Amino acid sequence: MLFKRAKRKLPKPHEAKCHIRKGDKVVVIAGKDKGKIGKVLQVFPRKQRAIVEGVNIVKRHMKPTPYSEGGIVEKPAPIHVSNLMVFCPKCNRGVRIGRKFLEDGTKVRVCKKCGEIIEAEE
Ligand SMILES: [Zn+2]
Repeated sequence: MLFKRAKRKLPKPHEAKCHIRKGDKVVVIAGKDKGKIGKVLQVFPRKQRAIVEGVNIVKRHMKPTPYSEGGIVEKPAPIHVSNLMVFCPKCNRGVRIGRKFLEDGTKVRVCKKCGEIIEAEE
């Protein structure tokens, strides 16, 4: 009997767009870190995941090696972007993001609530 290999459905690179960008300030809306606000350190668009400063911290037990002492290392693990919302400083909360074009043709992201332009600091 033949088995059809299940194709993993990963979006193609041009489809792998994220509402979140590196440098964004985001709010966690679900999970154990719900309510936390942090800066996006890294985004993995194809996996729809992002690493956020201070969010989803995991403890890794490192064995001592000749180069390091070992022990418990805490580092942020990737979190699914659906658990994140971009933080709007004007609304003081996580908001949905819209897009608009400025007069000079630049594409910007705006807060859908108050219309404030939200740009990633970098
Ligand atoms: Zn806003």
